[in-house]
Amino acid sequence: MSNLTAPDNHGAPVIWRCAVPTPLRRSFDYWSPEEGGPNPAPGIRIKLPFGSRSVIAFLVSQGADSDVDPKRLRRVTSVIDTEPLFPPSLFELLIWTATYYQHPLGEVLPLGLSPGERRGKPEHPLEEPGLMLNERGRGLPEGAPHQAPRQAALVQRLAAGPISFKQLVTEGFSRPLANALISKDLAIRCDVVNTVCWRERTPHLRANPEQSDAIDAITNALGQFSVHLLYGVTGSGKTEVYLQCIAACLKQDRQVLVLLPEIALTPQTLARFEARFDAPVLALHSGIGDAARDRAWAAARNGKAAIILGTRSAVFVPLNKPGLIIVDEEHDAAFVQQDGLRYSARDVAIKRAQLEDCPAILGSATPSLESWLNADRDRYRRHILTQRAGAGALPQQRLIDIRGLELTAGLSRELLDAVERTLHDGNQVLLFLNRRGFAHALVCHDCGWSSECNHCDARMTLHKSPPGLQCHHCGDRIALPARCPGCQSNRLLGTGLGTQQAEAFLSEHFADYPVIRVDSDTMATRGAMPKLIEQLDTGKPVLLVGTQMLSKGHHFPHVTLVAIVDADALLFSPDFRGEERLLQLLTQVSGRAGRAGKRGSVLIQTRQPEHTLIRNLDAPYHSQLATLLSLRAESALPPYGALGVIRCDSKTRATGLEFLQRIKARVTPTGHCRVIGPLPAAMARRKDRFRSQLVVAGPSRPALAALIASLVAEAEASRHSGGLSWSIDIDPYESL
Ligand code: ADP
Ligand code: ZN
Ligand code: ZN
Repeated sequence: MSNLTAPDNHGAPVIWRCAVPTPLRRSFDYWSPEEGGPNPAPGIRIKLPFGSRSVIAFLVSQGADSDVDPKRLRRVTSVIDTEPLFPPSLFELLIWTATYYQHPLGEVLPLGLSPGERRGKPEHPLEEPGLMLNERGRGLPEGAPHQAPRQAALVQRLAAGPISFKQLVTEGFSRPLANALISKDLAIRCDVVNTVCWRERTPHLRANPEQSDAIDAITNALGQFSVHLLYGVTGSGKTEVYLQCIAACLKQDRQVLVLLPEIALTPQTLARFEARFDAPVLALHSGIGDAARDRAWAAARNGKAAIILGTRSAVFVPLNKPGLIIVDEEHDAAFVQQDGLRYSARDVAIKRAQLEDCPAILGSATPSLESWLNADRDRYRRHILTQRAGAGALPQQRLIDIRGLELTAGLSRELLDAVERTLHDGNQVLLFLNRRGFAHALVCHDCGWSSECNHCDARMTLHKSPPGLQCHHCGDRIALPARCPGCQSNRLLGTGLGTQQAEAFLSEHFADYPVIRVDSDTMATRGAMPKLIEQLDTGKPVLLVGTQMLSKGHHFPHVTLVAIVDADALLFSPDFRGEERLLQLLTQVSGRAGRAGKRGSVLIQTRQPEHTLIRNLDAPYHSQLATLLSLRAESALPPYGALGVIRCDSKTRATGLEFLQRIKARVTPTGHCRVIGPLPAAMARRKDRFRSQLVVAGPSRPALAALIASLVAEAEASRHSGGLSWSIDIDPYESL
């Protein structure tokens, strides 16, 4: 390390360490800019030359020297901000996120900015055009102008201070009325920042005793960090608990952040919050444009917005004075980002609550095993709502054992008849297809045999090229059996096969009724879901065919039949969360169908009627969690152990596996951690690319973090041929 003298040589030599948006996990040293102010705070945006480009980066820290040869150091071009746009706790959260998920800080920091701010624009101004009284207007006698009572009312309202036109209109004053005051030379246009008044509008419902207990516990905890798991079936009044806790938080003049899965953030949800509070509510979802997002960011950062409702990425919204963070449907996979920075918005939200010294509420009818165990261990407080505040009985569940049955496009006669009857009676049907199927287990259609691994408590996965069965936990592989090892039948099927044809078949078979497919493709456009809900609200018979997407966020009062076409697909998915997800899916579905006086039924097709989970589907969700937890404990899987995955994507099979093998060979596992693999990913070939992975398993997250950090360092240092890319997935949600 050499002592440096700045080339311009006035004042102290200063090196700025900068976070630059690049895949490299390190900071970059630059000379401070010539016009650099006295002592800029870490987190400000700067412009600097990087390679041949000029990029927007962030100041992280300053120093007097650098490891880089001073002659090769470049200079920061300019400073954008005088103060960082990140509130201090958010800056800390972003640094924590980069560290925890081992992702480059330069790519994580922009998540705390709005789209415009990422491009270097200044913070969006908060002022809006508005109206204020001039001297003549202020001098008017009480009740004037007497001949125009509406104008007099407006003058009186303006006596309290300037108000934006938008606000005037919401208060029932018209634009022409405002213009009348201007032309009478009583008022002038001005820019205003609306002063906000945070109040509850409608008085609450009277909370039942269970709700009261939860509300009291949470509101008493305001002002310090705690986590509350709120468990209750759909309709048990969880949202009402949120609303009353929010009211208490607003009373303390603090903001509330509410995170919802994308599908749950509908105009109806927004309306429910807006109806309740006389306070600005912001909704942040994928449908809003960049300009609206810029405004929203500024309003949240300045404390003008009281309640911020958002999806996953809203966990990084800047907040002026947060007092409560709510994660609704906390078990939902939509909170996990699966590409780029792979993070769990629920977990980040909990960290955020800790940094902001406020409570977090995790609500769900089907809590994740992680959260449930944390409550068992008293890290979270558990609040249970057992009564169904708003609705009738839960629907009845029935199994259809499809072993040996003739199936058409995966559907049994019994199921088709039930669908027919329901539609004929004028009711709606919801049919779940499980399409996340590239590599399910192999099962025997006649006896229900399935491809279990000899070394693990797991099903071997069906691979197409090369054909065979492989265990994704130990790597063992065997040839594809020609006949069932159990009963010699040659009817061996990959579970999940045939489901794709189902949609086409159903539209033909039930040609008299509308058949609507609902999945992420068909619901991609903004208005698609509201339109569908409108159609369902008419109550006319409809056959909905969809993925898990249908199980979330919405109530379907006219649906009286729900059918799970292939429950086994989840049971045998290569994903270690498969069973948990099956249970969540079935519980969520049961909670959403057949309300408003119509008792629904749920039909479940399976070849595994004896499976513990399937057999006990009628039991309450939580009563099955002990079984699931003990299975996870036995295999040291989360929440009992920690996992990380290094994923690699390469042109050929050999380059990927070799790359992973090389970095694996260079580290020595410590702290009882293991490195498993390299193994081909469940879907090894995708778009002509080969995907492989190293799974890192350990007893705890800290133990694992050290090992993954050394693997990452090796991967960054390792030379590899072009066309190979790799990424890290900490606490992976998806299959292994
Ligand atoms: P969840 O969020 O658990 O699905 P909600 O809070 O939406 O449940 O409540 C379901 C329905 O019951 C809503 O219509 C709500 O207004 C009503 N509700 C909730 N709590 C009460 C209560 N204490 N008294 C009367 N109605 C209630
Ligand atoms: Zn195995
Ligand atoms: Zn068999």
